[in-house]
Amino acid sequence: MTAPQAEAIVDLDAYRANLATLAACAPSSALMAVVKADGYGHGLPQVARAAREAGATWLGVATPDEALALRATGDTGPVLCWLSAPGRDWGPLVEAGVEVTASSVAQLQEILATSPRRSAAGVPGGRRPRVQLKVDTGLARNGAFGDQWTELVGAAAAAQAAGHVEVSGVWSHFACADQPGHPANDAQEAVFSEAVDQLRDAGIDPGLRHLANSAAILSRPSAHLDLVRAGISSYGLPPDASMSIDVPLRPAMTLRARLAAVKRVPAGTSVSYGHTWTADRESTLGLVPIGYAEGVLRTASGRAAVGFAGGQVRQVGTICMDQFVVDLGEVPARPGDVVTLFGPGDDGEPTAEDWASAAGTIGYEVVTRLGGRIQRSHRGV
Ligand SMILES: *Cc1c(COP(=O)(O)O)cnc(C)c1O
Repeated sequence: MTAPQAEAIVDLDAYRANLATLAACAPSSALMAVVKADGYGHGLPQVARAAREAGATWLGVATPDEALALRATGDTGPVLCWLSAPGRDWGPLVEAGVEVTASSVAQLQEILATSPRRSAAGVPGGRRPRVQLKVDTGLARNGAFGDQWTELVGAAAAAQAAGHVEVSGVWSHFACADQPGHPANDAQEAVFSEAVDQLRDAGIDPGLRHLANSAAILSRPSAHLDLVRAGISSYGLPPDASMSIDVPLRPAMTLRARLAAVKRVPAGTSVSYGHTWTADRESTLGLVPIGYAEGVLRTASGRAAVGFAGGQVRQVGTICMDQFVVDLGEVPARPGDVVTLFGPGDDGEPTAEDWASAAGTIGYEVVTRLGGRIQRSHRGV
């Protein structure tokens, strides 16, 4: 087989080790591995299986379709999904044993109306939906707050009393957990605790209470509660470049490509669209056959680097749809030589976080946008 022009290699041993490290950060809480967006670009089926092997009791996805895709891989364990536009048929989710999230009374009603369920009279033929309630504690995305939370609690209590639903959890999401000193964090925890009290007052056992994403797992033990939801950190990337992280996390993904061309150019040669970079000396240029159609962020143009021959060489000029140029200087190179865009850094290559800062974004965006013609493979399967 021809060696791939561009490949992403996912190290599942690193992923499992990261999950074990994160579980140890929250020893009294259950662990949810968040595998939305195709496992943050790392491959849903492989990552989901590895997460279960590493002891993740729960898997988390955003959309109902992702939950069904996860079931189609053969996964049968606890799964929660949390983001759906109206008009969904919840029957297949409930039948598949997926726990779903209600962020409003309307959403709870839609779940009840479209799920097969045992009636109050006990007519068999289906499972009761297991629903977790989402409270908006200050992110102002999904979830109910204030009067709407009170209404949602009331509707859930009535539906549970009628035997139509099982409330299995209550949860929320931080806005600023990657800034551990931000006052919103304490405020959100306080609102969450009040929301849980309201549930109890309405006679509902809150079930699983959860609030912590990666940043809170790493920095806020007070938010660990019954379960923690690990996304970016499980893939070995920091939630934010500024966060100091004192546990070992190893980037699971390495992205590399083989040089399609190498050429010697004289000083004064301008490179790529717009001629935004000009060689100030004679130099060797390498052509990397991967571009923004693969998710290489064009906004990193002229600021990124790639790993080569045990060090780093600069990316120069504008990143194109299918390709970009690196300035190899006097480093000997031949077409077919491998450059590493990012990886764990073992051979001096940049990390995904380095690409994120070059592009003015976060590591999450670097890994989740990969696609196009990249061939992905897994180690440690
Ligand atoms: C994506 C997501 C997470 C994971 O967040 P990380 O910062 O990647 O750990 C957790 N909870 C919810 C609700 C999410 O949407």
